[in-house]
Amino acid sequence: MLERARFAPSPTGPLHIGGVRTALFNYLIAKKSGGKFILRIEDTDSKRTTAGAEQHIIDSLKWLGLEFDEGPFKQSDRRSLYEKKVSFLIKEGLAYYAFDTSSELEEARKEAGNFKYNFNTRGNMLNSFTLTEEEVSSRLDRGGYVVRMIIPEKKNITVVDQVRGSLVFNTEELEDKIILKSDGMPTYHLANVVDDHDMKITSVIRGEEWLSSLPIHKVLYDHFKWKSPKFYHLPLILKSSGSGKLSKRDAEEQGHAVFAVRWEDSKGFKEAGFSPEGLINYLALLGWSNSSEKEKYTLQELINEFNDKDINKSGARFDYKKALWINHLHLKDFAADKLLSLSEEACAQLKKKYTREQSEEIIDLIKERLNVTLDINKELSVFLRQPKEYDTGVIEKITREIIFDVLNFCKLKESLISKPKALKEALMVFGSEKGISFGNIMKSLRLCLVGNLSGPDLFKIIEIIGPEEALNRIESLTNKI
Ligand code: GLU
Repeated sequence: MLERARFAPSPTGPLHIGGVRTALFNYLIAKKSGGKFILRIEDTDSKRTTAGAEQHIIDSLKWLGLEFDEGPFKQSDRRSLYEKKVSFLIKEGLAYYAFDTSSELEEARKEAGNFKYNFNTRGNMLNSFTLTEEEVSSRLDRGGYVVRMIIPEKKNITVVDQVRGSLVFNTEELEDKIILKSDGMPTYHLANVVDDHDMKITSVIRGEEWLSSLPIHKVLYDHFKWKSPKFYHLPLILKSSGSGKLSKRDAEEQGHAVFAVRWEDSKGFKEAGFSPEGLINYLALLGWSNSSEKEKYTLQELINEFNDKDINKSGARFDYKKALWINHLHLKDFAADKLLSLSEEACAQLKKKYTREQSEEIIDLIKERLNVTLDINKELSVFLRQPKEYDTGVIEKITREIIFDVLNFCKLKESLISKPKALKEALMVFGSEKGISFGNIMKSLRLCLVGNLSGPDLFKIIEIIGPEEALNRIESLTNKI
């Protein structure tokens, strides 16, 4: 079946990583079937609409490459459709006008501990059931009313969630939800159901926090005599400690982003050096797992291999280290020119010193060592300049004498510096004569060229920076030690 799935965020703030994961699962389910991915902005709550949020949602999806086939539709542009549907429900006796003021509602809540506005209580409230026709029409003229939907009396509502199976809700627990607010705007419940039907949505895929709305939506589908779509409620994304939903604050405490792209002062994963491929891959694994050991997926592989039966019920713990690892798996396989284009700064620095070909060779040497693209600058420094400082712990461990001897030997063998193989052999002979382990010889040389024990293959480094620069660095450390 060709699926039509929609991502339906409310523009009440920036798009959180949980929302991105919801968008991704919608995208995957739609694309796997060869169907359509639709973006709908649910902006009926004008008081909570935040400037820039809609653009942030669109920019995030764009950066991630989750292109929508239809939309963005905006609910605020579709008011006349909702008005028609509300009128229909009123005419059918499935919705009614209510005039209770907020203080009256508060009073009712205070009196009954667990007050629910429904078949048990609507007879005591101010609405079309309790007022005469004249009273109703004069109150309608005055405005300031709402429309509530009827929840059937004492009934079990069975709904099916594709992730959790069949769920039964008793209508005693439900309320005659407001479907049209006093400002004439529909509420989330009405607009959501009307739009999902109107847009021929086949699968509703959203966060678990919407599960409690499901019986309300089912009643609305039944009122309209519409067939419900399939529903998937995705597990929460939990903070790394595992308890509670991941918030912006938790993310900040753990030192990582919570948005895909920058929002005001908060850097997104993009600015932190993630690739869209890496972030998407990691998010796909939050709440979806299959029996394979495979960790690295491209978007196309996700589309092919995603199976909605493998969506997990339980919350998915956000693990930043794993996110970095997955991003690393992508970066290390990127072509050098792609990595260069992702890091303008690195590109500019390399350009000054090396040819395009050499630059790409350097990037190929270091890409195994990247978790985020920002690491490129750190990894490049060995090819651009002398070490600014030397790891003193390493110096102490090897001992100054040994380092001094090794560097001196290299200076004596100056002509070998440009012949890595010969240099290596000479160093081995020197080591066995002097009783210095080959490990310590290599460490001394690495310390001298890099400043510490990290970095790519030593002889490759020498080859790229050239014998002259290598000798300069040897000289520098010899003088310092
Ligand atoms: N507007 C809701 C949200 O912001 C959408 C829930 C749904 O997908 O039905 O998450």
